[in-house]
Amino acid sequence: MRILVTGGAGYIGSHCVRALDQAGHQVVVLDNLVYGHAEIIEQVLGVPLVVGQVGDREVLEAILRGRHPNLIGTAHESKPIEAVLHFAAYAYVGESVSDPAKYYRNNLGDTLCLLEALVASKRPIPIVFSSTCATYGVPQEVPMTEFHPQAPINPYGRSKWMVEHLLKDFSAAYGLPSVIFRYFNAAGADPAGDLGEDHDPETHLIPRVLDVMSGREPYLQIFGDDYPTPDGTCIRDYIHVCDLADAHVLGLERLLRLREREEPIGAPLIYNLGNGTGYSVQQVIETAKSVTGRGLLAHVAKRREGDPAQLVASADKARQELGWRPRYPELSTIIDHAWQWHQRRFQR
Ligand code: UDP
Repeated sequence: MRILVTGGAGYIGSHCVRALDQAGHQVVVLDNLVYGHAEIIEQVLGVPLVVGQVGDREVLEAILRGRHPNLIGTAHESKPIEAVLHFAAYAYVGESVSDPAKYYRNNLGDTLCLLEALVASKRPIPIVFSSTCATYGVPQEVPMTEFHPQAPINPYGRSKWMVEHLLKDFSAAYGLPSVIFRYFNAAGADPAGDLGEDHDPETHLIPRVLDVMSGREPYLQIFGDDYPTPDGTCIRDYIHVCDLADAHVLGLERLLRLREREEPIGAPLIYNLGNGTGYSVQQVIETAKSVTGRGLLAHVAKRREGDPAQLVASADKARQELGWRPRYPELSTIIDHAWQWHQRRFQR
């Protein structure tokens, strides 16, 4: 199947491109390369890349019809796209608070443009959308199911939550088939060692711990040790990026099966993706020490605004409906794969 992956040069998108490729699909990537890495597409994944904005209707239409010049001589030439996986988004919570316009324009405005293009043809093109547990806001209970109330507390979370509403409305009004995945904490790297996390700036805990352990950063700040958790540090549900990627392939397949059977899809299929086990910042540090054999200098700093004490998923729905089984549920494996990548990518 011919699939457009927006944001395919980014961390989660690139792992999904590989999973789709391995499942026998033909992928084209659209990425503005603001945070993505062209060389990952060109040198590692080897699929066609179009550099551009999701909100550029002309570029979108050209890709959706297989008429973009970059598709000449590929499996996409003159052939329509059959499904879209939409990862392209900005994802820095702090920046979304200081510059919300950037987030609403890109994450919401551009996605509206994409959805309009998908429903413009007689048969709407199915879409799989990357959402986030940030759409839930402060948890009322853990583990959190898909029925947990949604009350996002920052513009990033709200931009994703608004797109979820667009998808619901587009599904009801125009019959746009969609899957919404709400990720918990994506982490790890492809065990092959050639794909992984490379953000600038890097804000996520596991890569920052590894930055300190490899000497790229002098020390780690632990954002608060006075939370109502057993060791006082925040608890998160870390999920291996390859397991996320597998879920996308399964979600897409389920959506297409339902459509083939002509079953009415009046609403998006919605799934949490997490392991259902929470680890504290302290536990992440201890596990990283034993995986890498390295020490780490850490200081306790003040709480980071908007960090809930605990975020843990119930992902039973994805297991039951999609038959999804995480291959790498152990935190030590997740950190080990991240470390392999980190050493290779950032070796000096
Ligand atoms: N964290 C930390 N120091 C860091 C980065 C993160 O203590 O340098 C904490 C953060 O406060 C949160 C957890 O680690 O409790 C996971 O943060 P991350 O940014 O990786 O993911 P988030 O849960 O914010 O999506």
